[in-house]
Amino acid sequence: MNSRWFAPVIIASALLGWLCATLLPEFIWLDTITELLRTAFFSALKMVIAPLIFFSLVAGVLELRNTNNMGRLGAVTLGYYFTTTCIAVCIGLVVVFFFHPWTQFPPLVDDPMAFAGVTPQSARLIDPGDGSISALLNNLLQAMLVNPFKALAEMNVLGILVGAILFGLALALTIKEDSPINKIFSDLAQATYRIAGWVLTTLPLGLFAITYQLAGQIDFSTVTALAQLAGVVFAATLFHGLVVLPLIAWWASGLSPWKFFAAVSQPLVTALSTSSSAATLPLSMATAESKLGVDRAKCAFVLPLGATANMDGTALFEGIAAVFLAYMFGIDLSAIGIIAIFLVAMLSSVGAPGIPSGSMAGMQMVMLAVGIPLEAIGLLLLIERPLDTFRTAVNVEGDLVGCLVAKRFTQ
Ligand code: ASP
Repeated sequence: MNSRWFAPVIIASALLGWLCATLLPEFIWLDTITELLRTAFFSALKMVIAPLIFFSLVAGVLELRNTNNMGRLGAVTLGYYFTTTCIAVCIGLVVVFFFHPWTQFPPLVDDPMAFAGVTPQSARLIDPGDGSISALLNNLLQAMLVNPFKALAEMNVLGILVGAILFGLALALTIKEDSPINKIFSDLAQATYRIAGWVLTTLPLGLFAITYQLAGQIDFSTVTALAQLAGVVFAATLFHGLVVLPLIAWWASGLSPWKFFAAVSQPLVTALSTSSSAATLPLSMATAESKLGVDRAKCAFVLPLGATANMDGTALFEGIAAVFLAYMFGIDLSAIGIIAIFLVAMLSSVGAPGIPSGSMAGMQMVMLAVGIPLEAIGLLLLIERPLDTFRTAVNVEGDLVGCLVAKRFTQ
């Protein structure tokens, strides 16, 4: 589907689901159909998580090896991407620590398993045990150091992350730079992105079924809580996009924020309207070269890498959304839970494809990390679309600022 149509179509399908549930409550067959659609949608979404993360991380580590060979440009770009993603998740977590207006309402369910259609498979990724440091470390190590096939089959996110990074590193040290294996893994990562893209094109159907089934469970306070979540994410994203990134751009290039925004307005508007970093990439390349005066060779390295691996808006959103869902589903978040959210949000933003709602697979990783039932993502999907537009614009802005940083530090 043309990405410009994606947002209106899925908003319409959510409304239709809600209308059908409200106006046609007697239609038993609608119950059956939406149940089927909902199960199929969630199963498909779950199906892509493990391979997507595994292949994108292995391909990412292999790419890093090539990056090392590019010397300074690689180091500067990666250092910048890592730092700004860290800043973004921290902003999200600090903002949500101080502003969580939805806690004025009771959680949606006290028992997560009581939520419509939740399958009892969610367990905390890292069991805190008796709360002692040694028990925690013990459980952490047990979750990390497992047979990678078992980790993939059981969707043990930590095990997958460790397995993929180790395997990627070992491969990078074993194979030659021009080995076809590099290409094979990068193609496999692209193929899993493509499958994720197919699954996401069914989002209108999934959302229709989800809103239909949730209509009875969602009342005024849930809608208000969702609107508050949107407000908090929006404010934090705006802070990162209007203050943090322009300041970095100013420091790196001397461009004042208004001159910077005037120069990059076209790709930002395109990102807003397509919700896709990948679709915006050609325009970002042209803009970085012609309006920001960055070498074509540098743009050709910094921007494609950024469109897949540098997603500040996405990382920030995932952190806040995980804290929100944990509250709504009665999951206690300890300090360990917050640290897990921080780490997994950073990593999963690296693995997210730059397509509309591309981070929804990674979002599930963050949820798994703290034991939020995967079905809870249905609640998030109701508010996801408008938020995706802004976070994609900030994702693209981050990449363009990366070009300025690369330009300054690799003269
Ligand atoms: N739509 C985002 C992008 O393309 C990814 C996401 O956060 O869903 O950058």
